[in-house]
Amino acid sequence: MTVFPQLEIPETLAAGPGPGNTDPRVLERFAKIGVADHMQKDVLRGMLEAKLMLRELWGTKNVYTYGVAGTGFSGLDCVLSLVLPADKVVVFPNGTFSGIDSLTIRMKAATAEELAADSLNPQPASVVTVETAHGKPVTGETVDKALAEHKPMWAFMAHWETGSGRINDLKGFSDACLKHGVMGIVDAVSSLGVGDFNIDDYPGVVAWASCPQKGVLALPLTYAPVSFTDKAIDVIKARGCRTYVHHPVLDARHWGIIDGKDVETPGYHQTHSCYAVASFHEALRIILSYGRAAKATDYMYHEKALRQAVEGMGCEVTSDMPSLIVLNLPGKLAGKEKELVQGARSQGFGIWPTLSEPVQVRIGILNQLSAEQIDEIASRFADAMLAMGAEFDKQQVMSQLKSYYAKAA
Ligand SMILES: *Cc1c(COP(=O)(O)O)cnc(C)c1O
Repeated sequence: MTVFPQLEIPETLAAGPGPGNTDPRVLERFAKIGVADHMQKDVLRGMLEAKLMLRELWGTKNVYTYGVAGTGFSGLDCVLSLVLPADKVVVFPNGTFSGIDSLTIRMKAATAEELAADSLNPQPASVVTVETAHGKPVTGETVDKALAEHKPMWAFMAHWETGSGRINDLKGFSDACLKHGVMGIVDAVSSLGVGDFNIDDYPGVVAWASCPQKGVLALPLTYAPVSFTDKAIDVIKARGCRTYVHHPVLDARHWGIIDGKDVETPGYHQTHSCYAVASFHEALRIILSYGRAAKATDYMYHEKALRQAVEGMGCEVTSDMPSLIVLNLPGKLAGKEKELVQGARSQGFGIWPTLSEPVQVRIGILNQLSAEQIDEIASRFADAMLAMGAEFDKQQVMSQLKSYYAKAA
């Protein structure tokens, strides 16, 4: 028998695309709440309250708005289970994550024969893939043109593609879906809790998925927010879908959503964790008290500070997401991105390379919304670059960063 030593994990500076640095209040709820089963009244009350707070955070009246236990891809699996074999879908990938979502869609839209022909990477005839290059946004014109040509049942896009740090045209996507009578599905994993937007302003989108670990900052509990319009729920009721645990209608029961209405007495779906519910609830309380708009403004403000600092180090920033900077290293260090990231990570500074070509460096600021925290990130990144032989004056970069904050204050 092998019993390993107790698992120790060091405290690192999580400065990547996600997960973000979890608020101590969220961790405290996780550790301090009493044990209670999944039908105990306060656990259920927590779920009902979290559901209402989630609707507020997401700016929606959609009754079918709740959390799917798991990570971002668990929520996406629930939402994408709308797609049945042979459904016609147009997907608009422009990076790593929308690429994985597109694979999920191809798996769900494939017929039995198409799935068997290439089970890990099926190529169903009913799915059209419209690629946009890494680092470029999906535009409304691209979507409009493709939907006019292919006339699908579904269209799919990521709101913010975290692989390249790119914001896609959500309004253009929604408008094109409405214009062509297509039901839009959106991966909003990295925008919820960072951007200031209302789901209900995009009526062409019938289903949304997000995650616990990015803008919502609730890593230990792992609830992936999802939201469906009544139209999407009607489609599921009429046609069904091939999952129990991620079934959009059945999963909603435990959150007190039954027959399209909020009810006070939820029904069992799976054994939800009291710890998870309490920490998710706390994370939502924190965001809503901070204010969604205030938070969005703060992300933009601090992203600009870090952007100027890395540009001062000679890097070229190619992203436009407020929680994430994606950059090219200066000429001399080009090609050494992975080495630089590995060096930084071995020092407990958790930055990331891109996961698909071309190789770039990604630095995130989730829950790092103070001058001190941005200073720390800039300083550690400067050290990592200097250790690789970069040539710039760190002191000058750091004092420029200080004056950015001094001017604003
Ligand atoms: C992070 C991310 C995902 C995956 O989320 P997990 O929590 O790792 O499952 C999916 N889509 C986008 C856009 C993301 O940024």
